[in-house]
Amino acid sequence: MTTVTSQEKGAFIRDEKGLILPTVENFYRFCAEGKLMAVKCNHCGAVICPPRSICPKCFGNDSEWVELKGRGKLLTYTIIHFPPSQFQALAPYAVGILRLNEGTQLPGMIKNVKLGDLRIGMDLLVDFEATLPKEWPKWPRYFFKPAS
Ligand SMILES: [Zn+2]
Repeated sequence: MTTVTSQEKGAFIRDEKGLILPTVENFYRFCAEGKLMAVKCNHCGAVICPPRSICPKCFGNDSEWVELKGRGKLLTYTIIHFPPSQFQALAPYAVGILRLNEGTQLPGMIKNVKLGDLRIGMDLLVDFEATLPKEWPKWPRYFFKPAS
């Protein structure tokens, strides 16, 4: 693990007009700035996170970035005992799906909580790792933690 430097955060991938494209790479660049960002569909208003260039609800391709507050409730979770090799040192750990207050759902790892204290419906916050993973993708990671 290494500390995030501004150079490693990289530049946003932009279109020919200079607008930041709705890609997962750009989503993680915002994470490096401590921002949880989604795109909002300009056709149907759906909030999509992580972002996609095509809206999954109406198939529109016109959207804009919006910052999310990073608060929500735990929809479901599971405990991982046999993780992929890069997460071996963390096992057992919890991954869950957070239903954000803005209405979208985000999968992620849950930290700073005793596994036995996890409850469906508990309030969680999104936070960001201060270090970069060694393995690809070398993006800053977000995670969930209890709100209180
Ligand atoms: Zn839409």
